[in-house]
Amino acid sequence: MKVLIVGGGGREHAIIWKLKQSKRIDKIYCAPGNGGIASLAECVDIKAEDIEKLVDFAINEKIDLTVVGPEVPLSMGLADAFEEKGLRCFGPKKAAAEIESSKVFSKYLMKKYGIPTASYMEFSDPQKARDYIETLSFPTVIKADGLAAGKGVIIAQSLTEAIEAVHSIMEEKTFSDAGDRIIIEEFMEGPEVSVLAFVDGKTVKPMVSARDHKRIFDDDMGLNTGGMGTISPAPYYTAEMEKICMEEIFVPTIDAMNKEGRTFKGVVFFGLMLTKDGPKVVEYNCRFGDPETQVVLQRLKTDLVDIMDAVIDGTLSNINIEWDESAASCIVIASGGYPGSYEKGKVITGLDNMPSDVVVFHSGTKLQDGQIKTDGGRVLGVTAKGADYSVSSKKVYEVIDNISFEGMHYRKDIGVKKY
Ligand code: ATP
Repeated sequence: MKVLIVGGGGREHAIIWKLKQSKRIDKIYCAPGNGGIASLAECVDIKAEDIEKLVDFAINEKIDLTVVGPEVPLSMGLADAFEEKGLRCFGPKKAAAEIESSKVFSKYLMKKYGIPTASYMEFSDPQKARDYIETLSFPTVIKADGLAAGKGVIIAQSLTEAIEAVHSIMEEKTFSDAGDRIIIEEFMEGPEVSVLAFVDGKTVKPMVSARDHKRIFDDDMGLNTGGMGTISPAPYYTAEMEKICMEEIFVPTIDAMNKEGRTFKGVVFFGLMLTKDGPKVVEYNCRFGDPETQVVLQRLKTDLVDIMDAVIDGTLSNINIEWDESAASCIVIASGGYPGSYEKGKVITGLDNMPSDVVVFHSGTKLQDGQIKTDGGRVLGVTAKGADYSVSSKKVYEVIDNISFEGMHYRKDIGVKKY
């Protein structure tokens, strides 16, 4: 069969790496792809958001299955457009993707159906938001309603910071119309866990857990990023905790979406916080997470095409999904200056002759004049498996010693620090 992957980051590289292991696949295309993906798939020069061109490509090339990586095309209705043309697509339709693309909707859903999350208020009038903030204690959390590439969440430590956040999101429109409405919510404390789950509209099958590291510097210091690395399994996510999450969060979420007439098919990402009052939802995403996917798919033993087919056909309950007992680590190497401004086009060396048990997923790279060069903030995700995540992380760090480009930066504590 012929498969098209939409997107061009480390997540898509990991999905392609896993799909490539399926005997059922003859040809993989990726739109737009990147320098690393080009070694596994034919990259097609179509942007992930260009739905019309993607539909035309899938029809002309007789694509059997399209897999969508990023949230933006899903929130624009890519899956709806594919379905209208009778094309098979892995990813939720627009109405279901709102579980991520509108925080106002996702908080409404959780409140209405009693799914544990931080208590909150919603505002479309900045003055009313300011009046409410005057009554709060700090820290408090302010979130733009819409998609803001992971930057629309501000943890305000003081009244001044909170007022400034409202001004920036709602009046200066830092995130454009994603900031027309905001959520102000209770600050929660506890370890964070990411759980991705396959969902076919009826059945939810959680994948193995992962822990992201969002801050740019060691010891969780500095600015938030798209994610500087992951380990799987996540510390503190016990079998008992998983059972509670299944009963109180995962199944109720899928049922709630059905009751709202927004049946979800694809991957739901549950961003969880294990608070002293039990696990609570920090956020939902409507797709595979990045860089969680890089570690989770390393541990998947079952054929991913079989699972994706079952999700689309609504037969997930018939499939036994198997996972490797070992742990995995992914350390992200970023461009110097990220998440602020950074330079692109730096030649990357040391990517040849990788040990067989280490996989390097490319995020922001391009292939130019036969050389792999940097082309984004997060550049590479170096990934390995091991008996536990400290073993897999040490293996990754040994390999990273040989990788080099001007200004490269990575965290040195992922999987090896005390959690
Ligand atoms: P992304 O899509 O990149 O994961 P996002 O912009 O959708 O991010 P959230 O995941 O909602 O944002 O929040 C980003 C981070 O902010 C969380 O991982 C968590 O560390 C912190 N955070 C969010 N909400 C809360 C809260 N209520 N209490 C404490 N921390 C929070």
